[in-house]
Amino acid sequence: MVNNKIAASITELDLSKDYILLVDSMSQQLGEKGIATGISLGETAPDFCLKNHQGEDVYLNEILQTAPVILSFYRGDWCPICQIELKAQQEALEEITAMGGRLLAIAPQTSEKALRLYQDMGLDFELLSDPEQKVIKNYQLQFEVPESLRQFHRNLIKKDDINGSWDLPVPATFVLDQQGVVCGRYVSADFLTRMEPIEIIGTLERLLGKDEALSAYLHSKNEILRNTLKELTQTQAQLLQKEKKAVIGDLTSGLVHEIKNLLNPISFLDLMMNDLSVKHQQYAEYIYDSRTRILELIDEVRLLSKEEEVHYKTSSYSLSLLIKEVVNLSLLDEDVKNQTIYFELNYQGNVQIDKNKIIQVLLNLIRNAAHALTNMPEKGIITIKTQEENGFVTISIIDNGIGMGKEVLDKIWQPFFTTKGDNGTGLGLDICRNIIENHGGEIGCESQINKETRFYFSLGKGE
Ligand code: ADP
Ligand code: MG
Repeated sequence: MVNNKIAASITELDLSKDYILLVDSMSQQLGEKGIATGISLGETAPDFCLKNHQGEDVYLNEILQTAPVILSFYRGDWCPICQIELKAQQEALEEITAMGGRLLAIAPQTSEKALRLYQDMGLDFELLSDPEQKVIKNYQLQFEVPESLRQFHRNLIKKDDINGSWDLPVPATFVLDQQGVVCGRYVSADFLTRMEPIEIIGTLERLLGKDEALSAYLHSKNEILRNTLKELTQTQAQLLQKEKKAVIGDLTSGLVHEIKNLLNPISFLDLMMNDLSVKHQQYAEYIYDSRTRILELIDEVRLLSKEEEVHYKTSSYSLSLLIKEVVNLSLLDEDVKNQTIYFELNYQGNVQIDKNKIIQVLLNLIRNAAHALTNMPEKGIITIKTQEENGFVTISIIDNGIGMGKEVLDKIWQPFFTTKGDNGTGLGLDICRNIIENHGGEIGCESQINKETRFYFSLGKGE
C-alpha cells in the first residue's frame, strides 16, 4: 500500500495557493479557540444510533461487541477530498476487514444521498447519516465554516446538504477498541489532510497486539482453572476413597468381633505348652504373635478408615534382629516360604520404632516381592538391605520379579489398587505408607519391568 495515498491524490487536485492558505489559517484559528478538537485518545466513544445508507438503524455499541470500529467522519458527497478519502478507504477495506476491523463513515447528510454515493463509488462499507449533526457535535467535531471560506464552497454545496446552516464536521477518524475506547485518532480542522489508511491499519495492528496480550492473560487464567479442576478431580477421588474406607471401617468393626472369637482357640496352646518341645514352643510363640498382629491389623484398618489418629508406642530396637524375626515369620507364609532371601545388613544399630507396625510393613513388602517372583522363568531372589544415610536408616526390599511400568507405579499407593484380582486387597501399600509416615519416615519405590523392583523406606535411628 502506498503510504500517503490520500495526500498524494489531494496534491493532484492542484488547489489554489490562496485556498490552501485560507484553510490553513481557519484551522489555526479553530485550534486556538479550542473548537472542534474531537474526543481524545483513551476516551470512550459516545454510543449512537444512526441510519445507514439503506435506512437501517446502526448502534455503535452493538457493532463493538463483534469488532473494533473505525469511525470516519467526512463532510459530504460534494467534497472532492472526502471522495478521495472514501476511495482510499475502500481500497484498504479488505485489509482492515481481514484484521477484524469494521469501518463506518459518518456525514451530515441524508441516507438517500449516502446511498447514491455508496453506489456511485462502489463502496462496501456502511455510510451513516447524521443530518442533525447530533453525533458530530457529541464527538466535538462541529464548526461553522467562516465567511472567508464560504465562497469557495458555494458552488459545491447545495442548500439541502447542510440544512441551510454553515455547520460542518472537521474530518476525523477514530479507531475504537472493542470497549469503545479511542486507540487511534486523527482530527484535523485542516480538511485537506486525512488519516491515511496505512495509519488505520497500524493502529489496528497495535490493537491486535493488545488483544494478544489479553489472550495470553486469558490463557494463563485458563491454566489456573485447569489446575483447579485437576485438584477438584483429585479431591473428588480422595473423597471417594474416604467413602470406600468408611465402608471398610463399618465392615471391619463387625468383623473384629467375629475374628476375635474365631482366634480364641489359639489360647488352647497355653494348655499344650508344657507338652511341646522347645522348637514347637517357639512355633507356638509365632502363632501368638501372629494373632496379636491380626488383631492389630484389623484395628488399624478400622481406625484408618475412620481417619482417627493412630498412636504409636515407639522404642529402640535392633534393626537386624527385627529383620531376622520377620523373615522367620514370613517363612511360615505359604506364598513366601519357597523364596530365597538374601541379606545385606550394613546398618547394625537400633531404630526407633513401633515394632509391630514395622513388622507389618516388612511382611507386606516381602509378601509383595514374593508375589512378583511367582511364575518368573528365572530363579527369584529377594534382597533385604539396610544402610545409614544422612542420619536416617534406609531399608530396601529388592526383588528381580515382574516389575511395574509407569502406569501401575503411579497407582500402587492408592488404597484398593491391586493387579492381583481376587487375590489382592490393594491395601498393603496404603497401610505401609501410613505406618512409615506416622514414624516420620519416607517410603518409595522404583521399578523396571521384568528386571528389578526396589521398595525402600527410612526410619529414625534408635539409641
Ligand atoms: P495387593 O498386594 O493386595 O495387590 P498392595 O497395596 O500391597 O496390594 O500392592 C498394590 C499393587 O502394587 C499390587 O497389586 C502390584 O500390582 C503392585 N506391586 C506391589 N509390590 C510389587 C512388587 N514387588 N513387584 C511388582 N509389583 C508390585
Ligand atoms: Mg500386598
